[in-house]
Amino acid sequence: MNKIIIVGAGFSGSILARKIAQELNRKVIILERRFHIAGNAYDEIDEHGILVQKYGPHFLNTNHYNVIRFLMQYGKLYQHNTKLLSYIDDEYIQLPFNFLSVQQLIGAERSETLLAKLRKAFYGRDRVPILELVDYDDKDISDYGILLFEKAYRTYTSKMWGIQPEQIDKYVLERVPMAMNYDERYLNKDFQYLPTDGFTKLFENMLNHPNIEVRLNTDALPLLSIEEETGSIFFEGEKVDCLIYTGAIDELFGRKYGLLPYRSLDIKYEYYSDRTSVLPSEIISYPQVDGYTRKTEYHKLMKDTTNVVGSIVATEYPLQYNPEAEIGNVPYYPVMTEESNKLYQKYLNDVKKYKGLFLCGRLAEFKYYNMDICIEHAIAYFEQVKDYLEKL
Ligand SMILES: Cc1cc2nc3c(=O)[nH]c(=O)nc-3n(C[C@H](O)[C@H](O)[C@H](O)COP(=O)(O)OP(=O)(O)OC[C@H]3O[C@@H](n4cnc5c(N)ncnc54)[C@H](O)[C@@H]3O)c2cc1C
Repeated sequence: MNKIIIVGAGFSGSILARKIAQELNRKVIILERRFHIAGNAYDEIDEHGILVQKYGPHFLNTNHYNVIRFLMQYGKLYQHNTKLLSYIDDEYIQLPFNFLSVQQLIGAERSETLLAKLRKAFYGRDRVPILELVDYDDKDISDYGILLFEKAYRTYTSKMWGIQPEQIDKYVLERVPMAMNYDERYLNKDFQYLPTDGFTKLFENMLNHPNIEVRLNTDALPLLSIEEETGSIFFEGEKVDCLIYTGAIDELFGRKYGLLPYRSLDIKYEYYSDRTSVLPSEIISYPQVDGYTRKTEYHKLMKDTTNVVGSIVATEYPLQYNPEAEIGNVPYYPVMTEESNKLYQKYLNDVKKYKGLFLCGRLAEFKYYNMDICIEHAIAYFEQVKDYLEKL
């Protein structure tokens, strides 16, 4: 039977590999360029016993329990409500911005009228996008929206994305709406979890199947070739019927229409041997500081800290993605603008020419998928792959 090749061992590639191997009893080869599995969710215990997420902090937040149930097949998860603070005007302010942060930012006395207005205006709504406050037809509410936008969103967004907020897809700006209550959870999702032994362990168990072969440190591109005239795909010179690709789509086509824009991160670590707590919260956002956006104190995310010595803080410096650079060569976040979406569509039109080429995941689909969406999407996408393989 023909080989099934999967490029990338992140959530998208690994979930599809497991389902094909287990439910269809077919052999799968996963090619992974990095030295490890788990994609951007990769974590490892460092020399101080701290579980560090090497590509930035990841939290599982979802309203669909099936995501949690699916992952629990591969390891233990524990409930963890993500909490953040934002450092604004030399104070730690509640994030998400909520009714407490109104009082922190404009003072208790001035906030009385505003809080009453917010309650009335957004009655029955849990969270409201900041831009809706900015555009609201009441001066007190819109002034507060503008204050938040100027003090936090404009600066953070420009630093994070390297462009002005006006240029960025609205969906991205709506990701951290204001809570219309005193809810301190960063996101208001019903099920908030972290894996007890880390994400990598879950992936190890998911990929542990006799039908799955994982090849690490293996860049797929030199091993693959695609033939436009016949729509055929070759792996190591042999024709393959099914290629599931979870890497960046522009790379697969030799960037013939140009480079799709991504933001990358340079993450710097500071270790503190003399204390176990450095920051007042697990993550702090710094909208007003030059250069970096967030700091994460990893041991605050661990369920069991018995073997931890000291504490480590990771600081994220966003920068332009450049595949040739020494720093900034990992495509972290797709920069979704009108222009980049048009460029993506060009590549997508080419994909249709190839029978058996499936694109799945954050990079391949050039979408800002969170893990929960990515997991649900891969589970649903499996049905398409299955349908195709069964008709061969
Ligand atoms: C800093 C950061 C923080 C995040 N925080 C959260 C969070 O808190 N909650 C949440 O739900 N989501 C979060 N996410 C999103 C989450 O990381 C993604 O949803 C998820 O990892 C996407 O999985 P994927 O398999 O689609 O892609 P990836 O995890 O990127 O996996 C793709 C894999 O393909 C490999 N690959 C690419 N090209 C090739 C090639 N040519 N040959 C071989 N291998 C190749 C890559 O090395 C990579 O391992 C965060 C993302 C980032 C960047």
